[in-house]
Parts: sequence; structure tokens; C-alpha cells
Amino acid sequence: MKDIKQHIENLRQELRQHNYNYYVLDQAIISDYEFDLKLKELQELEAKYPEFFDANSPTQRVGGEITKNFETVIHEYRMYSLDNSYSQEDLLDWEKRIKKIIDGDVEYTCELKYDGASISLTYENGKLIKAVTRGDGVQGDNVTANVRTIKSVPLELKGDFPERFDIRGEIILPFVGFHKMNEERIEIGEEPYRNPRNTASGSLKLQDSAEVAKRPLDCLLYNLEGTNLGVDTQLESLEKARQWGFKVPNAAQLCHSIDEVLEYINYWNEARHKLPYETDGVVVKVNSLQQQEELGYTAKAPRWAIAYKFKAEQVSTRLNSIDYQVGRTGAITPVANLEPVELGGTTVKRASLHNADQIEKLDIRIGDEVYVEKGGEIIPKILGVDFSKRPMWSVPTNYITHCPECNALLVRQEGEAQHYCPNYNGCKPQIIGRIQHFISRKAMDIEGLGGETVALLVNAGLINNYSDLYELTKGQILPLERMAEKSAENLLRGIEQSKTIPFERVLYALGIRYVGETVAKKLARHYKGIDAIAHASEEDLVHVDEIGEKIAKSVTDFFSLPENNLIVNRLKEFGVQLEMSKEQLAGQTDKLRGDIIVVSGVFETITRSELKKLIEDNGGKLSSSISSKTSYIVAGVNMGPSKKVKAEKLNIKLISEKEFLNKIDFQ
Ligand code: AMP
Ligand code: ZN
Repeated sequence: MKDIKQHIENLRQELRQHNYNYYVLDQAIISDYEFDLKLKELQELEAKYPEFFDANSPTQRVGGEITKNFETVIHEYRMYSLDNSYSQEDLLDWEKRIKKIIDGDVEYTCELKYDGASISLTYENGKLIKAVTRGDGVQGDNVTANVRTIKSVPLELKGDFPERFDIRGEIILPFVGFHKMNEERIEIGEEPYRNPRNTASGSLKLQDSAEVAKRPLDCLLYNLEGTNLGVDTQLESLEKARQWGFKVPNAAQLCHSIDEVLEYINYWNEARHKLPYETDGVVVKVNSLQQQEELGYTAKAPRWAIAYKFKAEQVSTRLNSIDYQVGRTGAITPVANLEPVELGGTTVKRASLHNADQIEKLDIRIGDEVYVEKGGEIIPKILGVDFSKRPMWSVPTNYITHCPECNALLVRQEGEAQHYCPNYNGCKPQIIGRIQHFISRKAMDIEGLGGETVALLVNAGLINNYSDLYELTKGQILPLERMAEKSAENLLRGIEQSKTIPFERVLYALGIRYVGETVAKKLARHYKGIDAIAHASEEDLVHVDEIGEKIAKSVTDFFSLPENNLIVNRLKEFGVQLEMSKEQLAGQTDKLRGDIIVVSGVFETITRSELKKLIEDNGGKLSSSISSKTSYIVAGVNMGPSKKVKAEKLNIKLISEKEFLNKIDFQ
């Protein structure tokens, strides 16, 4: 037993180090595959020996804990705001105020000001015990379960750390991850997120920590709070935090005068555009902690620190025309064509206008001189109009009423900002976009067929929807641009091979709005075949785990169109998988049909995700929170106390892991 405990500990230690190498240092030394193998081994051991459970184990990074209401926590050390400065003068004034209190030399540390959501982490004996949002500075929300899933936040520290301390930092979403998240949202017809900062702070308040785990968040640290920390200066505390395993960017620099501070600011004003995340200024701090103490705080902010805000890069230029783009889902996006202008190191020619309301609110008109700003957004945005330069001939912008591609009358659903072209099966960009989605890697993964070829095929009138792909002949495609004997054969082979793609991916490939990979999986598992889904009512659909009204309506809308049923039937005739296969169905029963089940705690013989899968495979419905509708709770060890109280109050039965497994005759 002692050996096993040791082995578990060693594995944890090893995985922790790999996490650190990968997420903090950015230097992986083993492959993802090797990492996954080790993680799996640890997961299995932990499931088998629940007595060695540890909330800080690397296995806990995947999340799964649900928080309905975030507990309010009072900060042990208040989280102050920062005073702002915008010029050399402001900084010199600040220095004057300091010199009134401090005799002698003052040195400064300059750091970048990361643009995200501030967080306070509490560590005790080297373990993360609490993560709290800033809130109003006096008290914030306990978001520990969510922060635990952020891989660069160490759950256990290294080296020579103080017994107890708070460390402050910023939870950010680097550009690459932000764009990736948006690509996925656009794929399923959701509106993209506007900017990384709001997305990062929104992520902290998600109820399902497993969802947070999927987001590529990062955490950059900048301040220590506590007693007996063993450091004398701000720079030293950054250095120490780095040694304990925190991610502390090394742009921090010691400056001996405000002149040097200004040099730092000037340098980063340009250089920041090459950083992988957003920054909105520089934070200047008095380096000596003793001097910091002497200076103290105003009601709102420390006297020993000041933020210097970079000027948001803004230019004005002429709006030449407005394009209206039609997306795969029929959503219309207005895009401004601008007189090309330099901004933040690139030439800007286009800017987003978002939607009709935005254009009306800002009264944006063709010919106007408009202010353009570049923030974390994908493309720059228009902030407003310089009305003094409005030309005499200017007329208010009339938003289009008809689709620029197919001339159908546009619709706008209540509560939605976007206009849509409803001509689902007759509007070219929608047709092309949908087929491109169908063949994409995560969907039917048709090798030898790319997005451009799809457009060529549609424009040549060879295909009109994805089912037409399966009737293409070599004779038809050979005359296409850049198509040779070999590539034509590859294409046809790729199409043929896609007939083996499992049902859940085919369902995703159909491109039903809001049906992403996860939703497709849930629907496939629940209904087992396309016919049952096509016949399901909205009411029926919302009973499936994680399917809300919006998705349910989108599914029934899809199948209410006769053309869609026709297309799906053709796919079926061509041999595309529109039902779960026998192998997939093995192990599936109806034993739990009608049961609404909540899972809580840690289990002995199986992992939590295995348990959830068993519930779904046996026809049960998982629910994340206890309500009067809950049939029973499968309770493991360490069930949350609040859940226990609620279960008692609502008189909901608890059953043990063993009782549950007996119920489904699990051997
Ligand atoms: P503000 O929100 O404008 O009052 O600015 C204060 C916030 O800046 C703090 O709450 C931090 O979340 C954030 N911040 C970002 N980077 C730093 C940094 N290097 N040092 C201190 N605060 C920072
Ligand atoms: Zn259209």
C-alpha cells in the first residue's frame, strides 16, 4: 500500500513538472501522447485507491465541478485599483508626491499591464487553496474550481516558499486561443466573442469547470501579499514567484528614474504588438517594499504604484463603402471598406460594423471620416464619426433589406442583433459554406477535397448540397481548374471513404445551427439514429442532457424543411452512417430511462466520467444540479456539504456507487 501511495505521488510529481515545462516555460520535453499515457495511469490508480485523493492532483485539471452560486469571500488583503497616468507630466507629478513622503533615492520596477481579469490566489504549505476574483476590492467570488483548470496556475509549488501567502495576477486569454475559440463558435453558427478580456473574465464565472478547462486561459502573476515573505523589493518578489513555479513574464525591469521609466514605456508601446496577449499599459511600482509601506494607500489605490495607459491606437480615415457578407448560417455581417491607413503596425482596409443597430447608433454613413481602433478584436472596429467632416451630400445608411447574394428578403429574429438570409437551400454562400463544413476535418474529413474546390464544384453547377458529392463522377470533375487524373481519383476515394465516418460526426457535419461536436455526440447517443432525431419534438429534445431550447428549436427547424429531409435520405441511400453502429450500441440499455440523476463526490471503482458514461449508455439523464425533479443522487465519498443539505431538504434519495452499479447489472 505504501508503495502504491509512493507511486501515485511520483506520477503526480512527474506530471506536475511536465505541466510546468509546457505551460509556464513553453518547452515541452515529452510528447502529448506520452503525457496522456502517464495521466491515464494516474487517473486509474486514483480511481482504484480513492483514499489517496488529492484536489491538487494533475488529474483534477480537467474540471467537472459545478458551481451554481459563487461564494463571496472577503480578501485578507484588499485588492486595490490603480491610479492612471497618460503622460510624462503625470508621472513626474506622481514622483513629486512620492518624494514628499520618502527621503532619499527611489527606484521603480516597470511591468506590463496585462489586460484580463484580476485574480487573487491563496497558497498554504505550497498548495493552492483559494482563488478569488477582485469583486469590489474588499470581497470577491470564490472561483477556485474554475481556476484549478488553468494549466499555468501551479496547484503545488516548488522550492522555498512561505507558509502562507496571497499572490495576485491576471487571468488572460492569449490571441491564438481566442481566435481558435471564435473559429469554433463560427463553425456552429454562434456569434464570435468580441474581445479576449471579456471572454477571460466571463470564463471565470462559468458554472461548469469542465468548460473552463477547455478554454486556453493563462495566468500571469505580478504581486505578493503576506507576512514573512523573505523579499525586500518588488523585483525580488517577481523573481521568487517565478522560482516557486508561477508564470511571471520577464519584461519586468528596474528603472532608476522617471526618464528610464519613459524609455521603458516608449519601447513597449511598439514592442507590445508582438506579444501573444493583450496589454493596455505599463504599471510602475516603487521597488523597495519598505518604501511601499511608508507610502501606503489612498482610499482607492496604492500611492506606490501607478498605471501608465498606452494611447489606444486610433486613426481616422474615410469610409468608402459597406459590404454585406453572408455566412454559412445566413448571418449578415456588415463590413466597412476604408481608405487604407496605418494602424498598430499594419495597414487597415476593413473594419467590422457588427450589425444594423451599431450602424444606426453611431450614425455611420458612406463618405464619413470615421475613427478606427485596434484592440484585441479580430478586425479593427469603428468607434464613431468625425461629424465636422461629414460631406454635404451625406445620407443616412439604409441597411439592406434583401440578401446581396440571392435577393431573398432578410429576417431578424426577436432578441437577435444579426439579420439572416432565410434562403437556406438556395443562397450560394450558405450552400458553399455548408458543404465546406461538411467536408471539414472534424466532420466528414474528406481527403483530397478542399474549400476552394467545393466553391468550384458549386459554381460549375455540379453540386447543390452535400448529398450531391456522392454522385460525382470523374468525367464531371476532370475539366475543373487544377484537376488532374490523380487528384480527381483522390477526391472520389476520399468521398467514398467518408461513408465509414461514425454517425455522431455525420450529425455534426450536417451543419445544423448550434449543433457542435459535443451536442452532436449527445444527440447521437440519446437517439441512436437520424430518424428519431428528425421526429423528436422540441419538448422531447430539451430533455436530453445539455440540450437547451435554442438548440432544440434549431434541430426541429432543420427537419421541418422538406429539402433537408430529402438530402438526409439521399445520404442514407448512398451509405453514409446515419445510425449508431452495432459496436457503438453494444453496452447500451434502457435501464435508466426516465431517471434524472445527479453525480456527486469521488468514486472508488470507476472514474466520474466513466460513471457519467454508464448513466448515458443506460438511457439515464445527467443533471448538474439537484432539484425537485432529480430522481436520485449517486453519491461517492467527499460529497459536497451544500449538495447534501439540498438533497435532504428536497427529500432526494442518495444511492451508493455499489447500489448504482447493481441497478444496471454492471459487473
Ligand atoms: P484598473 O482595473 O484600471 O483599476 O487597473 C488595475 C488592475 O490592473 C489591477 O487590478 C490588475 O488586475 C491589473 N494589472 C495588470 N497587470 C498588472 C501589473 N503588472 N501589476 C499590477 N496590476 C496589474
Ligand atoms: Zn441569401
